[in-house]
Amino acid sequence: MTDIKSMTIEQLTSYMETMGEKPYRARQLYEWMHIRLAESFSDMTNLPKSLRERLAEECEYTLLKTEREQISKEDGTRKYLFSLADGQMIESVFMPYHHGNSVCISSQAGCRMGCRFCASAIGGLVRNLTAAEMLEQIYRISAATGERVSNIVVMGTGEPLDNYDNLLRFIRLITDENGLHISQRNITVSTCGLVDRIRMLATQKLQITLALSLHAVTDEKRRQIMPIAKRYQIAELMEAMTYYASVTGRRVTFEYSLISGVNDTDEDAAGLAALAKGPGAHVNLIPVNPVTETAFLPPDRHKADIFKNKLEKYGTNVTIRRRLGADIDAACGQLRRKVNRLQGSIQPRV
Ligand code: SAH
Repeated sequence: MTDIKSMTIEQLTSYMETMGEKPYRARQLYEWMHIRLAESFSDMTNLPKSLRERLAEECEYTLLKTEREQISKEDGTRKYLFSLADGQMIESVFMPYHHGNSVCISSQAGCRMGCRFCASAIGGLVRNLTAAEMLEQIYRISAATGERVSNIVVMGTGEPLDNYDNLLRFIRLITDENGLHISQRNITVSTCGLVDRIRMLATQKLQITLALSLHAVTDEKRRQIMPIAKRYQIAELMEAMTYYASVTGRRVTFEYSLISGVNDTDEDAAGLAALAKGPGAHVNLIPVNPVTETAFLPPDRHKADIFKNKLEKYGTNVTIRRRLGADIDAACGQLRRKVNRLQGSIQPRV
């Protein structure tokens, strides 16, 4: 089956040609899929019925099914649990901000990076998401909220650079002027630090923001919480991030999940400030979200502020990320995990 929603307009145009159709049909189809967010071929009323029927036979029309929508009473954050055609569940988050709405999307069903504090790592990787499945998270949220989405963060479940080709295709499609036309500058991709892929991505010269999940400032400590640190050392990572910043002209971001008693000492702050200085990075501090299956806890607010103040004294550009949607399992794969757990615990009746 042809994955029609992952096609660029050029690919769609040649596909229409092979079907003996006029090129303008490709534009019409593209508009139905990527602007009008049609739910099926039968919605596409300005296409001849015969064409719609052929498309339905030959193509897979990716459409996510909304299994749950949870709206935070505290801050308006909305969390979505979607099911895919094969029954896999993924989650996405809608975050309303004064400067525009953000959507956080997943890039894989599960993840194989194994970070110790992360709920998405627990069940391992199931599979990569297609470009269409990444787009659809934004499309269904736009349709459900009726709101314009202006910012995208690829920070949901999965390691985006472990699904590199589909990620690039997704970025091309979501920024396409024939589609939602989101600015590259409004897209952030977060990675646990796959050095080779960071360098590959740099050569694409995109204007997206690259965020590195650092979380520790020595290789030894990083290896304890992030298995990927066994493959790449912090020094190589910093070189790759500096390379990315110099080739693209974009300032990079470091994500640092504050974990009480693990990475929140004065030495950690000093080390972090020194690392961030190299590529001139912005540091995002995120008090770790407790995950049921793990023992990691965030420092209290006061300690987190002290850590932040230390960084500022060193001249680091730093913010503590607001915790959005904490009342709706909005953090880091926790809803998907909870639902899988509940489903797993339902015994078939005999
Ligand atoms: N795999 C990518 C993107 C997905 S994770 C990456 O590692 O960056 C998005 C961010 O959430 C990462 O910075 C990740 O380390 C962080 N994260 C995962 N679990 C968390 C938790 N329980 N509390 C706080 N941050 C967490």
